[in-house]
Order: sequence, then structure tokens, then C-alpha cells
Amino acid sequence: MGNYLVKCVECGVVQPPYALNCQNGDSLLRTEYLTKQLNPRNDLSGLWKFYDWLPVKVPLKSLDDSLVGERPSVYKSEVLAQELGLDNLYISFSGFWPEKKALMPTCSFKDLEAPPTLQRIMERKDCPVLVVSSVGNTARAFAQAATEAGLALILVVPSEDLYRLWITEPISDNICVISVDGDYNDAIDLGGRISTKPEFVSEGGARNVARRDGMGVVMLEGGLVMKALPHHYFQAVGSGTGGIAAWEAALRLIEDGRFGQNLPQLHLAQNDPCAPIYVARSGSKVQKECPKGMYDDVLFNKAPPYDVKGGVKDALESTLGQVYAITNQEASEAQKLFEESEEVDILPAAAIAVAALQRAVNTRSVNREDRILLNITGGGLTRLKEESEFNMLKCNLKAKPSDLISDTNLLAEIKEILGRA
Ligand SMILES: *Cc1c(COP(=O)(O)O)cnc(C)c1O
Repeated sequence: MGNYLVKCVECGVVQPPYALNCQNGDSLLRTEYLTKQLNPRNDLSGLWKFYDWLPVKVPLKSLDDSLVGERPSVYKSEVLAQELGLDNLYISFSGFWPEKKALMPTCSFKDLEAPPTLQRIMERKDCPVLVVSSVGNTARAFAQAATEAGLALILVVPSEDLYRLWITEPISDNICVISVDGDYNDAIDLGGRISTKPEFVSEGGARNVARRDGMGVVMLEGGLVMKALPHHYFQAVGSGTGGIAAWEAALRLIEDGRFGQNLPQLHLAQNDPCAPIYVARSGSKVQKECPKGMYDDVLFNKAPPYDVKGGVKDALESTLGQVYAITNQEASEAQKLFEESEEVDILPAAAIAVAALQRAVNTRSVNREDRILLNITGGGLTRLKEESEFNMLKCNLKAKPSDLISDTNLLAEIKEILGRA
């Protein structure tokens, strides 16, 4: 293999490079890079600055030979910091904000996950087609990156979420969109059934090291800008994958030796009462109606990788982390405060993290002088709308939750759409 190994977090055994599970159990796998010191590649654009710590052989290229994948902008806050009474608040902005050199095409930090994941699939000898089940931000990010790179992709989306599927590239025929007459879990189930076929592969969610190491770029860029690890890291979470990624990136920066020796405390924020990670910690209940009524339903994940070795629970325990359940009222006030202070619009999910920071300040979970990294996981949509066209993906196939893949019609139709029949 190239410059990294994939090892089981639990037993430490080296795994086949594209495995998602340990052969000996259920533990998450983690990459181990042979380069132990961060060597920012300023000759490479976007997130490829962190090429040495991304699990690929070469960066993802677009059809016109530029690199696909932007990086977040990390800067020291002045106005919000002052409002909150903080001396060292740093904001990592993943979205579209040209003045800050943030150019993520679908406005969320899913744009960090898609390029390394697609590149890694392409590097496999069997070259399968990626299957992604999503209600929104993830589908957009993968559709955008796959279109830029001219790669085939299958998206499985609940029919009522189809309206969220826009990209800024012209629509081409590399993507097969399947709408499911059901909810997010039905989309996951159908996507899972499609990816049991040898020509297809599921992206694997939190189990995919390319997704996690892509998101880990936030902590790496933060470390470079702050010249040290933060004391605290705030993020809105659904699956909590971004929290695991931040923890893993911090472990690498500690091993580097130049960024300090203490892990940042994770502050993971969910939306009350649809907060399964908060519930797993506190023993309260998730309401049956969820995700209805949520401030942002991209934050609802019924089955986060919580108990699994190397997962959210381990990340929280190892960093003495905290989990928050934020009300819609708190989120909406925090969104207003952020947008007025920093003068950019943010996605509702990101406001949940701002509200958690506000709460942590009020309860003195953070001190005035602490170094804080606030991950604004999405924003700048209003700006992007002014400057770019939005092209809607079209639905190619309609499926019912009960559709079986052994019912080979669906499979044949997918292949035909992707031109691989
Ligand atoms: C996906 C997403 C999150 C939550 O990410 P995790 O996978 O739970 O880490 C937060 N904010 C936005 C905007 C997202 O799209």
C-alpha cells in the first residue's frame, strides 16, 4: 500500500485497505499514516493541502484537470467573540464565503467527505459504483463532486426530499437518482440492498475512513491557523461522525508534537428532543414524531455509531466531552446572533453548535481565555444563490420501500441509466 495502513481500533490488526469492518469484530477501522508530521502541501488546492493525511493515492481530478475539493476557512472571530466574552474564539467556516476564501460548492462540510471518498473508490481495482442514501446535504455533496469528476453515482433519496437535490454543475448523465416512497430509513435499506450487488458499493457512513479523514481537515486547518490544538471543539452532530473525525485528527496532531499534548474537549450539539446521542448519554427519550419539527432534520440519525469501538462514546470519554440538547428557540436566537455578528448566513444545523457554545459560556464550561474552535458546518447559501446557478437533479427511477433487488428489473434499469448495461 501507499502511505497509510488501515487498522482496527480494537485489536490493532492491519485490515485490507478497503474494508469497513474488522475481520475480528465490529470495531471501527482507522488510518495510520506513515508521515507523522503534518506537511501542508501548499502546492495543492483546497482540502488536498492535507494530502499526506488523506487515504488516497492521488487527489480527485475534475474533467478539466483541476482538483475537486475545497477546504474550510478558519479565522479568529472578533464580533461574536466579543458578544460572548471570549478572547480566543476561532471559527471554521465550511460553506460559500468568497471573502474568506471558503468556496464549498454545496455549502456544507459534506463537501469535505465526498472528494476523498469518491477518489478512494476509483482507486479500487474492481471500480464499483458508489451508492449514497441521504436526505440532503450528503447527496448534494456527492452529486456535485461526482459530476465535476465525471464519475458514476447512485443516490437513493426519500421522494419528499427530492427538492433538496441541486448542484451548481450542469446536470450530466453520470448520476442515477432513485426516489423511495418512504422515509430516510427506507432509503438506507434500499441503498443497502443495491450495494450487496458486486458492481456497487455502499459509502459506509462513519465506517468509511475517507469520510472521517476528509472531515478531519477542519481540525487540521484549525491547528495550523491557531498554531496549537484548541481546548474546546464545538459541532452540531447527527451521526457524530464529525466528532469522531475531529478527535482522530487531534490524536494525529498530538503525535506530530508541535500542536500541544492535550486533546480538545468535544462539545457535540443535538436538537432537542430529537437527540439520540444525547439520549444515549442521559437516558431520556427520543420522541416518536422525530424528525418532524426539528430545527434542521439533517441532524437526525436514529442509529449513530455510539457504542461501537472507536465511535462517539469513546471520542467523548477520551476527551471528557459533553453533549447538548438544544431547543429550537435557542437555535433560532443563536442563528440570529451569529449572522448579525459575523455577517454571513449559516445553515440551521450550524446554529445548533452556536447555541451550544452560548450555553457553555453561560454555564462556565469554557473560560474566557480558552482556545475554542467552533465548526460552522454549513453556510453561505444566500451568497451562493446570488453568484451561481442551481441545477436540479432529476429523478430517474421510483421505488417502493419493499422493492427487492432480486426483482432484477430495478437493477437492470439502474445499469441502463448508468450506461453499464
Ligand atoms: C451532516 C451535517 C452535520 C452533522 O454531521 P455529523 O455527521 O453528525 O458529524 C452538521 N451540520 C451540517 C450542515 C451537516 O450537513
